[in-house]
Amino acid sequence: MERILLASPTMHGEENNYIKEAFDRNWIAPLGFNCDGFEDEMTEYLGGNMHAFATVSGTSAIHLAVKLAGVRPGDYVLCSDLTFSATVNPVSYEGGIQVFIDSEKETWNMSPEALEEGFSKYPDAKVVVLAHLYGTPAKLDEITEICRKHDAILIEDAAEALGAEYKGIKCGHFGNYGILSFNGNKIITTSGGGMLLSRTKEDRDKALFWSTQARENAPWYQHTELGYNYRMSNVVAGIGRGQLKHIEEHKQLKKEIYQRYKEGFKDLPVQMNPYAEDSMPNFWLSVLTVNEEYMCRQERTDNCTTWVHEPGKSCPDEIESILSENNIESRPVWKPMHMQSYYADRDFIGSGFSEEIFKRGLCLPSDIKMTKEDQDRVIGIVKKCFGGN
Ligand SMILES: *Cc1c(COP(=O)(O)O)cnc(C)c1O
Repeated sequence: MERILLASPTMHGEENNYIKEAFDRNWIAPLGFNCDGFEDEMTEYLGGNMHAFATVSGTSAIHLAVKLAGVRPGDYVLCSDLTFSATVNPVSYEGGIQVFIDSEKETWNMSPEALEEGFSKYPDAKVVVLAHLYGTPAKLDEITEICRKHDAILIEDAAEALGAEYKGIKCGHFGNYGILSFNGNKIITTSGGGMLLSRTKEDRDKALFWSTQARENAPWYQHTELGYNYRMSNVVAGIGRGQLKHIEEHKQLKKEIYQRYKEGFKDLPVQMNPYAEDSMPNFWLSVLTVNEEYMCRQERTDNCTTWVHEPGKSCPDEIESILSENNIESRPVWKPMHMQSYYADRDFIGSGFSEEIFKRGLCLPSDIKMTKEDQDRVIGIVKKCFGGN
């Protein structure tokens, strides 16, 4: 039987037309009509009123946002704790110091209370990096209000949340800067790529300047600033244009997957990843957490895990292992940044909720090519882990 995957690219054929046009016009270099088209079409999809800039990756887009936000060596930057490392690494590229902010229970995203506490402890902090985890919008009213109050710049990492909405407005609209990712596992993909969303043309121009090696306007290669090679290629952007036409369809399929899990697990001691009523996630990944009382003993070191099976109980690592024996991919929730040895010297603000989600959470196969029968198999195996049949 074919392996059931967490999330893999789903192509539709239309991508080819744009790539073919790039080849036919011999426009293979970075920049070009597909980049322009992809940026325009994305801006329109997101609801306009922004300046989009296509990059080689989501990570490079975050780096550009961190530079535009003016992070300097030694600056404290308040960051989501429960996220992929790419959300926070670019702060280090600029010499900034991350302060990790715990999650709240309703959306698993940055806790407004912990953020407020972060500003009390680091009143000089001027930048916040917020991730929307697994496609679920954060508590944006509260977060944007706190940032406004402290005169801080908000960078919205919407890499996992393209198409997700908060009170009817799409993620990527709420920060001073937003970023998207089109990596292979994201809801739409260009094989690899990203996008910076900014509010002014000046910011976009500056991003373009840095991303194309910071070449000054001179007859020769003249440099007064440090440059990068971050621009998306015209070929890759063609894939994005084809994919973007299918985003709503991808969202719908992801939502159905989430709902089938929810229904399938209703008699089990597990919860699906939560979201607030005023938001509409894109359901990029479906994630379960095992209720505390139904966790069997699970012990993790930095590199490995052991667990002891107990009847009627289970744990993410046991479920992952049994799914894997059945050729089904699943994965622990992101390991919080404050638990990473690389960031051992960074401060963490909160009560340890992110750690709790890491301990009890498992990302389930959410691939939109997964059939109902495939998903029933996944659900059946999870039931068995808790002693069902
Ligand atoms: C995927 C991802 C990124 C990085 O995007 P790349 O395109 O892989 O560089 C950043 N932040 C989050 C939350 C992500 O999931």
